[in-house]
Amino acid sequence: MDKLEQLYEGKAKKVFKTEDPDVLIVDYKDDATAFNGEKKGTIVGKGVINNKMSNYVMSLLEKEGVPTHLVKELSDRETAVKKVEIVPLEVIIRNVSAGSFAKKLGIEEGRKLLCPTLEFSYKDDALGDPFINSYYALALGLATKEEIDLITKYAFQVNDVLIKYFLGIGIELIDFKIEFGRYHGQIILADEISPDTCRLWDVTTHEKLDKDRFRRDLGNVEDAYQEVFHRLGIK
Ligand code: ADP
Ligand code: UDP
Repeated sequence: MDKLEQLYEGKAKKVFKTEDPDVLIVDYKDDATAFNGEKKGTIVGKGVINNKMSNYVMSLLEKEGVPTHLVKELSDRETAVKKVEIVPLEVIIRNVSAGSFAKKLGIEEGRKLLCPTLEFSYKDDALGDPFINSYYALALGLATKEEIDLITKYAFQVNDVLIKYFLGIGIELIDFKIEFGRYHGQIILADEISPDTCRLWDVTTHEKLDKDRFRRDLGNVEDAYQEVFHRLGIK
């Protein structure tokens, strides 16, 4: 399978057409951004780790009954995926208070939530991905009621699978963001699941093993990504 015309260059990935109209190739970059693109940098090796980790996690989720866009890993940084129409919602699940949740609600980071939460952001960089609820999504025609219900069900299922999986490698899944798309009318999980899109803390030391090291200038950014990668045991 070959890359044809580049369709899009985002902050973390490039997206290419292929000879198959239903399949795209994503190419993961080492570029890192935060705060809606205000902070820019490079995390050496990130593209390889995010590509391989995302594919590994997606194949795990497929086995557990969550349909995903994964077709085939093509190289260290490139993967063939089903071309979807992205639902313009960032779906965020939280198990422990952190980031914008902690700030907005005045709750210390690290407080375990009594149950997982789900929230939506409207995927629009120009607006800074504002927080919306399912009524807004319906009213704006971003998704149908059936789609929102399915997205909600899949998102909690992803959480259940990943909490268990990460615990097995000594990592606590604090929160994460996922995206879904429509593929021939079906809702499937798309985009990526990686230390860029999840908060991952070491279970015993609570050391941050994710993009917060970059966002907050905590140092050892590459090491943290490598640590997660090694624990996953991906070849
Ligand atoms: P951003 O657009 O936020 O800068 P990326 O650099 O990760 O993010 O770019 C990848 C883009 O491709 C995102 O906009 C994402 O929604 C989109 N995307 C992810 N998976 C698919 C897919 N299977 N089909 C079509 N688009 C996808
Ligand atoms: N997240 C993401 N992309 C975004 C916003 C958030 O992948 O554009 C992830 C982030 O890595 C974290 C979770 O979603 O795992 C919750 O992020 P939060 O709302 O706390 O925002 P932040 O503190 O990152 O601004």
